[in-house]
Amino acid sequence: MQTSTNHCKTSNHTKNMSDPALYTVGWICAIPTESIAASLFLDGEEHERLTYVSTNDSNDYTLGEMAGHNVVIAVLPDGEYGQTSATAVVKDMLSSFPNIRVGFMVGIAGGAPTSKNDIRLGDIVVSSPHDDTGGVLQYDYGKMIQGQGFLQTGFLNQPSTLVRTAVSGLKAQYKKKGNVIETKIKTILDEYTELSEEFGRPDGDKDRLYKADVVHPAEIEGTCGDICGTQPEKLVERRARTLREDKRTIIHYGTIASGSWLMKDAHARDLLAEERGVLCFEMEAAGLINHLPCLVVRGICDYSDSHKNKDWQGYAAMAAAAYVKDLLTRMVPSRVEAEAKLKEVIDSDLVLTRSQVSQKVDAIGTTTQKVHVDVGELRMQEHRSRMIKWLSPSDPSTNYNKALEQRQEGTGLWFIHGDAFKQWKQHSNSFLWLHGIPGCGKTVLSSTIIEHLKLDTTCEVLLYFYFDFNDTSKQTLDNVLRSLIKQLYQQQPDARQSLDQSWNAHGEGSQQPSTSSLQSVLQAMLSMIDKAYIVLDALDESKSRGDLLVWLKTLATSKFTACQLLVTARREEDIESALQTWIHPEDRIAIQQSDVDVDIE
Ligand SMILES: [Zn+2]
Repeated sequence: MQTSTNHCKTSNHTKNMSDPALYTVGWICAIPTESIAASLFLDGEEHERLTYVSTNDSNDYTLGEMAGHNVVIAVLPDGEYGQTSATAVVKDMLSSFPNIRVGFMVGIAGGAPTSKNDIRLGDIVVSSPHDDTGGVLQYDYGKMIQGQGFLQTGFLNQPSTLVRTAVSGLKAQYKKKGNVIETKIKTILDEYTELSEEFGRPDGDKDRLYKADVVHPAEIEGTCGDICGTQPEKLVERRARTLREDKRTIIHYGTIASGSWLMKDAHARDLLAEERGVLCFEMEAAGLINHLPCLVVRGICDYSDSHKNKDWQGYAAMAAAAYVKDLLTRMVPSRVEAEAKLKEVIDSDLVLTRSQVSQKVDAIGTTTQKVHVDVGELRMQEHRSRMIKWLSPSDPSTNYNKALEQRQEGTGLWFIHGDAFKQWKQHSNSFLWLHGIPGCGKTVLSSTIIEHLKLDTTCEVLLYFYFDFNDTSKQTLDNVLRSLIKQLYQQQPDARQSLDQSWNAHGEGSQQPSTSSLQSVLQAMLSMIDKAYIVLDALDESKSRGDLLVWLKTLATSKFTACQLLVTARREEDIESALQTWIHPEDRIAIQQSDVDVDIE
């Protein structure tokens, strides 16, 4: 090993460090703003450019010393960004600088704030493996547009143990003593006053997080403040940070999402944040990380939505660079030199099969992670949740759960094992009305039936609803329709079209459907599937019994749908006279108090 640090102490003069083998730290940036920020943190002057680099290496390097390490800062070619470019830059860098031992991807990214992760502009995100993710999550967009399933192969390597140990050490250090990243940035900009406007911290009022539904209009020129407004109802309400928090740069550790497209969709952002714990979005790390197991450090400059905000880019790049310098300060140069050369690690990996790579990488002290997310599926989920939000149905599972909690063991088995229920289950277009006096246990029996059907694998579609005197969202025909539609929408992709059409017909969800249009939607959805079991509890607790009973008859007698309907209701006059016009006498079953008593004993 040729490496030596003896002759590279800090100096105020440009130093001749003409041997590429002296450099051990690779630092990749995507845009010039990031490489300028990085170079501002070098100790002393930049080193002279090398007279010799590998043939075909067209990278632009900035060389220098930082915290005792010789650092190569490389930036992607102007105007190029994304995974492919990052891969090319790293390959060239490793062939020109064969002794690089640790890698960093440093720059800016769009944040993904959630109620759990209060991420603000100027904060820092550090890729950090947790649970089952490798710190960098790769997602894809191209296939999503085509609506195909997403398939992602490839291993996203983690940085070496040395780097990860330094991250936890620095985390503990910040926790105890706080960080002075902000002060360090100020000190540098006091020296480079001409850069302070671009790289200094913007005013706090330039940090606005718009609600996901507020979309920046594409064609209009102007700032967000002018076009999108600053009214509180458009913005996500966030608490003011305390003075103490404000003084320290906040650092988040977790998953960074890396994709082949620039995330500018607040809904997709929120989905990935909620479901995958993504803290921020960028475009290079996934291309890099298989070629250079590296730590990704990102300063947050916007919120990955449609809004335009360039004000924070310089400062966010400075914050990320300041963090990496603190990290390098914790890493002893001699320990870095003792690490395996990344070039060798990578080269040896390339000739192995994937499973061998996995073993190989384990053997050198890092673990491999394959993480992918089906953005197409997420997009569908987003659409589904939008539909459901529009319907805003009540949730019958609360009644279901409550009744089961109250149930004595064995209750209702007499009915489940009885002939009437067996017949009802077997025959299509069957109907049953269970009636009894108040308090005879109808609701508990309904829940037992639902539970039985849920466990029955032959029962593909099960819809249920509980009318409830005590819950105003569970009393009308409109309420039951919304709930059944929602359940069917979730259970049967084949049946979704009618609701989607209705949503479009109602100004893309800007207006609510009428009760009669909900009836048509449910009818149309049911006609798309082979059969459905429907259990409706306590019709007598409905406040729109007249309409409900008319609809029930339509549903039960329709030639276009196949429903097996089971209802419970007290024997009250309007119910009885409505039902008896169309049901068979044997479809009525009385639940006697004694039946329940027998159960309870
Ligand atoms: Zn805007």
